[in-house]
Amino acid sequence: MAKPTHAPAPRTEQAPEQWCHWHKGPSQTAVLVDAIEKNSAPPHPLYACAPCREQRGLIPLADLP
Ligand SMILES: [Zn+2]
Repeated sequence: MAKPTHAPAPRTEQAPEQWCHWHKGPSQTAVLVDAIEKNSAPPHPLYACAPCREQRGLIPLADLP
């Protein structure tokens, strides 16, 4: 007879959640996609999650040649 286990999920040391700069929220699918070049400012790395990339046609930097 199977006993229902009630043990709490073990805390895994994972990388912190990524942040999606497009919907401005945390996302586990966010990847670095682009960098905004502002005047007199260094490029700012931007991360976008999968749905936002699909919606906006963003290409992850890792996928670029
Ligand atoms: Zn997003």
